[in-house]
Amino acid sequence: MDHSPLSLAQSLLRCPSVTPEEGGALAFIEGVLKEAGFAVHRPVFSEPGTPDVENLYARYGSGDPYLLFAGHTDVVPPGDSSRWSHDPFSGEIQGGELYGRGAVDMKGGIACMMAAALDFIRNTPGFKGSIGFLITGDEEGPAINGTVKLLEWAKGRGERFDHCILGEPTNPNRLGDMIKIGRRGSLTGRVVVEGKQGHVAYPHLAENPIPGMLRLLSGLLSEPLDQGTEHFDASNLEVTTVDVGNPASNVIPAEARATFNIRFNDLWTPQSLEEEIDRRLREAAGNTVRYRLTMDPTNAVAFLTPPNAFVGFIADAIEAETGFQPKLSTTGGTSDARFIVKDCPVVEFGLVGQTMHQIDERVPVADLDRLTGIYRKVLDAYFAAAS
Ligand SMILES: [Zn+2]
Repeated sequence: MDHSPLSLAQSLLRCPSVTPEEGGALAFIEGVLKEAGFAVHRPVFSEPGTPDVENLYARYGSGDPYLLFAGHTDVVPPGDSSRWSHDPFSGEIQGGELYGRGAVDMKGGIACMMAAALDFIRNTPGFKGSIGFLITGDEEGPAINGTVKLLEWAKGRGERFDHCILGEPTNPNRLGDMIKIGRRGSLTGRVVVEGKQGHVAYPHLAENPIPGMLRLLSGLLSEPLDQGTEHFDASNLEVTTVDVGNPASNVIPAEARATFNIRFNDLWTPQSLEEEIDRRLREAAGNTVRYRLTMDPTNAVAFLTPPNAFVGFIADAIEAETGFQPKLSTTGGTSDARFIVKDCPVVEFGLVGQTMHQIDERVPVADLDRLTGIYRKVLDAYFAAAS
């Protein structure tokens, strides 16, 4: 069987695994890893109101240290397939690039992890430690029957991980640009200002909520939340919508609503942030603005894997393979790393993200080879350091 990263990636891309469909992708991984001697499990998780989702957990070896590769085989829908240069699930190559939904996010990354692990195992008989794969089919969807439950399931079996590499596409422009050593948290809040509906010609009989909303929003935005930290940008509060929903020009509306989202750094927890928002609103409202604040539940807290020997293995491997010193970053949206970090340090490094979720998502075949080379060097360094 051909275990080149290209062949593995093509096989994965040909599986139509749009969330929550397994599409044959996990079955393919199971077959390859089993053949290489991994113990493979395929837990299916359910939750009322969400589709059942298949997942995969595989482990080779039984000793410490335990290095875990994590990722997802589900993909976002391809959109209008006729707008693609090649069928989004055909795994075609053109001009040295492999096309398909998931090419960079993140079946390509999984193919590289698999190719590197199989090559390491073949060439390092009797190495001390374990290599695992934690692969979910529910990252791009509700993310309820995926990584969170898979981690719980694994812990219930007594599994303990030492370090994890998550293969999301972390590089903005070229392979080797960027490692993610943490992520910002995300918190959404909603404000409703209550007024009293009435005729614009008789404002003394009504109470317009809009001036009150303006005061609250300027109170929220007047001061930066912080100045950033060593590894994080400043936290950012973005008002995402302000709604009155009033079609009439001669009516004072009854209430005004606004929603905001905060991407926050490691100076904050959702609780401390909520207290700060509450304080700012109370101050801006004084005794005159009647309002309600609600915060959406969040499981996206900020986290950081401090630059240490493990991050060093990855940075060194990247430099050896590409010649670039990667930036250690905490930018971008949330990822499943926020769940895994509760169990072990996580570093994210994968392909170049430029075409992810787009028409004609694609990856240079050369990048697949080089990312495999990077993961392979990480495995060498990681297990050499342990023995
Ligand atoms: Zn992804």
